[in-house]
Amino acid sequence: MKPNDLPQFDTAALRAKDAAHHLHPFTDTKSLNAAGSRVIVRGEGVRIWDSEGNEIIDGMSGLWCVNLGYGRQDLVDAATHQMQTLPFYNAFFKTTTAPATELAALLPQVAPPGFNHVFFTNSGSEGNDTIIRLVRRYWDLMGQPQRKTIISRHNAYHGSTLGGASLGGMSGMHEQGDLPLPGITHIDQPYQLQHGKPGESAHDFGLRAASWLEAKILEVGADKVAAFIGEPVQGAGGVIIPPASYWPEIQRICDKYGLLLISDEVICGFGRLGHWFGCQHPHINSKPDLITFAKGVTSGYLPLGGVLVGDRVAKVLIEQGGDFNHGFTYSGHPTCCAVAIANVSALRNEGVVERVATDTAPYLKAQFATLADHPLVGDVDSLGMVAGLVLYKDNASRTLFDADLGVGYLCRDHCFKNGVVMRAVEERMIIAPPLVMTHAEIDEMIRRIRRSLDDTLAGLRAQGLV
Ligand code: PMP
Repeated sequence: MKPNDLPQFDTAALRAKDAAHHLHPFTDTKSLNAAGSRVIVRGEGVRIWDSEGNEIIDGMSGLWCVNLGYGRQDLVDAATHQMQTLPFYNAFFKTTTAPATELAALLPQVAPPGFNHVFFTNSGSEGNDTIIRLVRRYWDLMGQPQRKTIISRHNAYHGSTLGGASLGGMSGMHEQGDLPLPGITHIDQPYQLQHGKPGESAHDFGLRAASWLEAKILEVGADKVAAFIGEPVQGAGGVIIPPASYWPEIQRICDKYGLLLISDEVICGFGRLGHWFGCQHPHINSKPDLITFAKGVTSGYLPLGGVLVGDRVAKVLIEQGGDFNHGFTYSGHPTCCAVAIANVSALRNEGVVERVATDTAPYLKAQFATLADHPLVGDVDSLGMVAGLVLYKDNASRTLFDADLGVGYLCRDHCFKNGVVMRAVEERMIIAPPLVMTHAEIDEMIRRIRRSLDDTLAGLRAQGLV
């Protein structure tokens, strides 16, 4: 699309209003206001445009969510039709709506075996809050109310509500507000660059990282631990792909002590790893009892999240249950559910998930790996449609830049300037592009990333920093 075809926006006026009134998530408002927000005005396919007419390949699918890409008329039509018919009704008080029920029946068709029930929320954070309450309710009903502790991992991301942030392992979030809440504790993440020993194989590191779960269970007391939660691949933590030995060992330990296993699939769900859910990928291969989802369930077109409840928990909840005193006004919002049905149907009918596994993800892996010859780059890795690399000051000795330099953020800014969205997480640069990316679009994205790495290197050299 030519810039002239874009709707006209007064960028300066929008920036001024934004600075005056809008508090952005996870943002230092003072420094943002000094720089001014970038205003995104349009999306089509894998591309977005800003208000100044710049075209940008969206290497992050919005925020890991626009799995089908932008501009899907079928999703727009689903929302329009539902809003014209019944924009909203709730699922409290013995009522439902057709889209909520149809989606609840559709999700088990794409979920791993043994998942036949769903509880709807608006977001991933609310999904994980729901999980905390479901897990406690389950163990109460099982006559083991002392099983309260949920074990998670440092540098995990499970959301921004009090519960979600507590389950997450982001120290910057815990510091603001006395988190985690009681009953939530953390082990180290399976990130070999941080925790590996010299000469240790990835396989051995994976087993050792999983053994930290057993050590924590024994420390807390096996009869007090309710569940373990983890993302199949840590997303916001920097696309940390665990060794293949990690999840099966985590599964074995959960089984040994009877813990519920929770797979937070807010990013990995709905095809991101080339399987409907990340736990089904052979590299992960876990059998969770509860699955959190959000984002890709609607490709981000409307907010929707929830919990897939496996038979082990659902059976107890339903047969011994009584009221589960939990829910949201918009649990099962019919318009959001209608869009989710259209989205899941499109993913299925167009064979998107299978294409990711057999074609798009292997192509992305091969092309992303070509960046490894860049002087700044090491530890290039991907799984499905998530990928990450490490920016090194000296690749040969694996020396990282001083964290205060914020090299990742410099690189991210060059990426924007060169027309590609790439995210910086400390020493890591990461992508999670739309699942519908073509080979030509992947090639173009990699060219723009390489140009941005070159610009980053040139800038660092000019300042004598490399
Ligand atoms: N879990 C994971 C794994 C996530 O990546 C996120 C969001 N990035 C969340 C939970 C929280 O989801 P939301 O922002 O929709 O509340």
